[in-house]
Amino acid sequence: MPKSAYLSLSLMLFITSLSLNALPMQRINASSILNDGPYVVENPESWSIHWVCHGLAKIRQVAKTAMFPYEFRQCGLNATWSPIIDDPQTNFVTDYPIAAISDIHGQFELMKRLLKQHEIIDSLGNWSFSQGHLVITGDIFDRGDKVTETLWFAYELERQARQQGGRVHFLLGNHEVMVLQGDLRYLHTKYQQVESVLQSSMQQLYSENAILGRWLRTKNAVLKINQSLFMHGGLHPNILERDLSLADINQQLRHSLNSQTEASNHDLSQYLLGVEGPLWHRGYFDTDTTAEIDNLLTRYQAQRLVVGHTSQPQVQSRHNGKVIAVDSSIKMGKSAEMLLINKQQLLRATLDGKQLPLP
Ligand code: ZN
Repeated sequence: MPKSAYLSLSLMLFITSLSLNALPMQRINASSILNDGPYVVENPESWSIHWVCHGLAKIRQVAKTAMFPYEFRQCGLNATWSPIIDDPQTNFVTDYPIAAISDIHGQFELMKRLLKQHEIIDSLGNWSFSQGHLVITGDIFDRGDKVTETLWFAYELERQARQQGGRVHFLLGNHEVMVLQGDLRYLHTKYQQVESVLQSSMQQLYSENAILGRWLRTKNAVLKINQSLFMHGGLHPNILERDLSLADINQQLRHSLNSQTEASNHDLSQYLLGVEGPLWHRGYFDTDTTAEIDNLLTRYQAQRLVVGHTSQPQVQSRHNGKVIAVDSSIKMGKSAEMLLINKQQLLRATLDGKQLPLP
């Protein structure tokens, strides 16, 4: 591009930015290191890519005929946008290792350090786990300030894993659903600034018209790989009264989050999204008995439930190994662990590269 054209484009973007955010001067100064995005939103004729660079709103239109994958590299923000992989499959059988990480809550760097230590990704952040399965048991959103980066990272890693015969499974947590439904109580203040600069609410930025919003609405809440059942919170013992398969649970939740397919069963939708639902339940850590957990395992023909949501200092086993807690308090931004399952062996994978038996 000739320099003059570049300058006029920059000027145009600058003017667009000014008109998009009529903020008082001090607000702009306070936001001068604010970088976030991209948020890709579909319009009738094109896609618009919105991002925040040094506190200013930026926008770019992309034709519907754009070639995929579309590489976005601006202002230190990276995203690889390829077509959404919508895979409702709920059951997998594999001889390859399985890793499970949970409750990342925007701690992007810590998560990457942990994944690199155990060669789930290489030094450049690309998939290196061969045909293994990486399960992210929910709650990428809220608390921390690198949520968008973590989402795009998981989005691209999902594609890379598939290309090598592996899988990334990002399961919904309560914080994903909260943001999709406009409950922003736990949002890092950075994203309030982003809303203000982009003059768009988080709900709009993650709507069904937005790539990340659409992608999140394709995600499962429960997943079975071999003999392990993964989810964010846990299955309440009373779910057995409802006689639901894992696929039923996923399908109903997907319907509940998608306005195009109105929830067919309002009561069930309320239950699955409520405090006794799989995204919120915490009973394995207080009220539920091992006998109740046995009933769940018998019904779903599994050996263990692997859950996040209820924070622990480290990955640990409960109820004689029938529950594995994988929320290792990454949200505090200091330490991080994940679970590794290699054949019948279960290990704590630590930030300093150790693989230890579960306590
Ligand atoms: Zn949670």
